[in-house]
Amino acid sequence: MARILLIEDEEKLARFIELELVHEGYQVEKALDGRTGLELAEQGNWDLMLLDIMLPGISGLEVLRRIRKSFSRPVIILTARDAVMDKVTGLDMGADDYITKPFSIEELLARIRVALRKQSRQAEDEKLLSCGDLSIDISRHLVMRNGREIALTGREFALLQYFMENKTLVLTREQVLEKVWGYAYAGETNVVDVYVRYLRNKMDDPFEKKLLHTVRGVGYVLREEK
Ligand code: CA
Repeated sequence: MARILLIEDEEKLARFIELELVHEGYQVEKALDGRTGLELAEQGNWDLMLLDIMLPGISGLEVLRRIRKSFSRPVIILTARDAVMDKVTGLDMGADDYITKPFSIEELLARIRVALRKQSRQAEDEKLLSCGDLSIDISRHLVMRNGREIALTGREFALLQYFMENKTLVLTREQVLEKVWGYAYAGETNVVDVYVRYLRNKMDDPFEKKLLHTVRGVGYVLREEK
């Protein structure tokens, strides 16, 4: 169930939107001024924000400016009919969409569905990682290189995923051990070397470039070398 933060100072309108959203099955929390809204935005784990621009205290644009770096979810701004500048500024500042008052609730619900769908597609895409001609699909547990599927054990997959997520960063054996095996194995770092060898054997055909490199005295790095 998606969680929506509604920041709107017109109480009647806020209440109306809240009821409609709850009726649609969303979880809603509302703030009637910018400062409260900002606090809630920073605290909560939201899927989407509906943000009015004309707010007492901190304006909607200011809320947007302050949260934009940390709030990665869609923001739909609610603007007055003639406030073209707010709309443009809002979109410039990273809002995903806007809706002009007065709007029909159906229109608002449609915008919300679109924004949430877009967000979940992006989240899907983030589960696809690649390095050169090697790619992994985390949700489907699938590894492909040059069009062929590479079968990995659970541990090998976890190891490759960790390298993929930290592509181009040099990782020490200790880091790898901690992340992929957990603390229980602390000290026995040669298990990392053994698994890196397994992984290389499965990943690289003789004609393919090596992707997983040894950094002498430090650890390993996954990167495509030109
Ligand atoms: Ca307002």
